[in-house]
Amino acid sequence: MTIHNNFIAGEWLAGRSSADNVNPSDLSDVVGNYTLAGQDAVEQATDAASAAFEGWARVSPEVRADALDKIGTEILARREELGALLSREEGKILADGIGEVIRAGRVFKFFAAEALRLNGEKVTSVRPGVEVEVTREPEGVVGIITPWNFPIAIPAWKIAPALAYGNTVVFKPAGIVPASAWALADIISRAGLPEGVFNLVMGSGSEIGGAIVASPKVRAVTFTGSVATGRRIALDCVRTGKKVQLELGGKNPLIVLDDADLDVAVSVAVNGAYFATGQRCTASSRLIVQNGIHDRFVAAVIDRIGHLKIGHALDPGSEIGPVVSSDQLEQDISYIEVGKNGGAHLALGGEKLKRDRDGYYMSPALFTETTNDMRINREEIFGPVASVIRASTYEEAVQIANDTPFGLSSGICTTSLKYAHDFKRRSAAGMVMVNVPTAGVDYHVAFGGRKESSYGPREQGAYAREFYTVIKTAYTLP
Ligand code: NAD
Repeated sequence: MTIHNNFIAGEWLAGRSSADNVNPSDLSDVVGNYTLAGQDAVEQATDAASAAFEGWARVSPEVRADALDKIGTEILARREELGALLSREEGKILADGIGEVIRAGRVFKFFAAEALRLNGEKVTSVRPGVEVEVTREPEGVVGIITPWNFPIAIPAWKIAPALAYGNTVVFKPAGIVPASAWALADIISRAGLPEGVFNLVMGSGSEIGGAIVASPKVRAVTFTGSVATGRRIALDCVRTGKKVQLELGGKNPLIVLDDADLDVAVSVAVNGAYFATGQRCTASSRLIVQNGIHDRFVAAVIDRIGHLKIGHALDPGSEIGPVVSSDQLEQDISYIEVGKNGGAHLALGGEKLKRDRDGYYMSPALFTETTNDMRINREEIFGPVASVIRASTYEEAVQIANDTPFGLSSGICTTSLKYAHDFKRRSAAGMVMVNVPTAGVDYHVAFGGRKESSYGPREQGAYAREFYTVIKTAYTLP
């Protein structure tokens, strides 16, 4: 089988060993074989990115815009094929795989245009005759470390702004989803970038990720992943004087008020909690339901999830694919025991499922009669598991929603303008949804959370420039 290599200094290079990428929908299906680099590869990549920086930083923004536009065009043209590859390695259903690829293509197109829009300010000086200019410049070499749950969209929304604003890149994808990252790197490698501007290094998280964070040539690190890894990276970045941006976990609340449209609330909850196998940082995991609608809502959600089709990600009939890996499946199942032992009532699901092909299948689980202090409501599970928490009043629901260490996304289902408006202001989350699922966001506006969910400037949209550029203030006496 062909080994897919790393892309360093404009060349495809083998690492120390390689590993199979296995389809979680069918463990007999090997998606491909991918090289695993050692730390020497990180040094080569950071050297190449550092050498390429000055040239790329100075190139006309039109050159950057054209390269990004070309990348976006190819991604969009190959949406079906890349979507199928993504679904095969990650396990989200094909429609979601294709949707994610489209998003990645759109992100490159968006930042192609943003490359041309980088502006500054001219300010009147307090000193007569002196001119003051405030401009933005690229940071330098950016280290990009990404998780497995959005194998092409998250790399895209970090790589595209990094390149658009004139930075060079060393990119390390998550170990279990190298295929989408490699396909993206292959497209980028043909976009006409000078050698060293973009580098892909696949390998172990602690070894390769750790070496990127430790490298004195890396100026800034953008990371999406778990809280534990993110914290370690942030400490190392502060210790070595790097700029750092973290997007981490969530424990996102969805409030359902008595006045909600029941059909809307059920579909928002089921989509937010279970689609993409619940493996979204913005998934709704705490369903905070007012007493008057509680029993009808719970009965309707149970009915709906009981009929969801769990199967092979590429089967057109599947609504939910498998869990991504054996480790993640065991973690999800262990939280079912944590919930039961903690006094929650398991209303449905939470079991491993057998399908024609061996895979990591699990039935969507719903806990009811839970309280917000239970472990299942404090810790991120990251699987198809949600809990219902009762609330008597709107005020109590808001208090429960905000009582969490996380603050990524939140939602409310209501037909009341008063409550919708009030919740948008009082929710302690970075993103607030009214009558739409907590997961699912636009690509051209800011993305990010509060408290333990995020650290540093926002990602996506024009806000991305905060992280990928540094301000310069220049004074001139003509
Ligand atoms: P993870 O923290 O295990 O890994 C993330 C990345 O870090 C991977 O590429 C991994 O190889 C690398 N890594 C691991 N150890 C490292 C180290 N010591 N130094 C440097 N890099 C290291 O996370 P995951 O399991 O891949 O992803 C799931 C998590 O990601 C969940 O907590 C989820 O909520 C979070 N997530 C957050 C967002 C967001 O935008 N807030 C989006 C998607 C996923």
